[in-house]
Amino acid sequence: QALTQSLLYLDNVSVVFDGFRALNALSLTIEEAEMRAIIGPNGAGKTTMMDVITGKTRPTKGEAVFAGVHDLTKMDEAAIAQLGIGRKFQTPTVFDMHTVEDNLLLALKEDRRAFSNIYWRRTPHEKERIDALLERIRLKDHRLRKAAELSHGQKQWLEIGMLLAQEPRLLLVDEPAAGMTDQETADTADLLRDIAKTQSVVVVEHDMQFVRDLDVKVTVLHEGSVLAEGSLDHVSANERVIEVYLGR
Ligand code: ADP
Repeated sequence: QALTQSLLYLDNVSVVFDGFRALNALSLTIEEAEMRAIIGPNGAGKTTMMDVITGKTRPTKGEAVFAGVHDLTKMDEAAIAQLGIGRKFQTPTVFDMHTVEDNLLLALKEDRRAFSNIYWRRTPHEKERIDALLERIRLKDHRLRKAAELSHGQKQWLEIGMLLAQEPRLLLVDEPAAGMTDQETADTADLLRDIAKTQSVVVVEHDMQFVRDLDVKVTVLHEGSVLAEGSLDHVSANERVIEVYLGR
C-alpha cells in the first residue's frame, strides 16, 4: 500500500521481445519531487523502462501506477502524457526558425496551427509563463534569438522548457549531458536539481561525472532488473556493480 503512495510505482514489470527479456520483473518507485539517476551498461533495459512508463512499449507482465492511477501499462501514449509525464529524448526537437520565446509559446498553446499573426500575440498570462520558463531554463538573455542560433546545450534547455510548459509531474530525461561542454554539463545538473524541487525527474545517464554532479539516489539496472540502489558512492562499492561494469 505504501508503495502505491509513491508518484510512480513499477510493479514486477517484464518485457519480452522475441524470447529476449529486456525487462525482468523490474520494480521501482519514484517519489514526488524526487530526482533519480538510472545507470547501467548497454542493453540493461533503461530505454525499455522509459518506453514502458510512457506507453510506447507494453509489458508482457506487471503494472505501473502513476499518481494513484492504475494502470499505465493499459493506457496509450497520449493518455499517459495527459496524466503529466513528459519525456525528453536525446536529440532536441525545437523549432529552429522560431525564436526562443516563440518556441515556448508554441509549447504553451494547445493548437499549433500558426497560420495567422493573431496566433503569435501573447495573453498577459502567457507572457508571465514564458518569463518564468525563461528564468528556469536560463535563457532569459536569448529570448529573441532563433533556436537555430543556440548552442547544443541551450537547445536542450529550450526543449526542457517546452516540456515544462506542459507542467509534467514527472519528467523523463535521456542522457541530457551528451555532447555538452563541461560548463553546460554543470549548468544542466543545476537546472535539473532546480526542477526537482517541484517535479520528479528520472535521468538516464552514462556520464558518471554528471551523475556525481546530480548528487541523487542512483538505480543500477542490469539485465532488466535492479542490481543496486543508493548513493553513487554506495552503488560504486557494490561488488556486483563493479563486476558488471568491468566485465563489459
Ligand atoms: P539500454 O537502454 O539500457 O541500453 P534497452 O532498453 O535499449 O537497453 O535494451 C534492452 C535490450 O532489449 C537490448 O538487448 C535490446 O537489444 C533489446 N531490445 C530493445 N528494444 C527491442 C525491440 N523493439 N525488439 C527487440 N529487442 C529489443
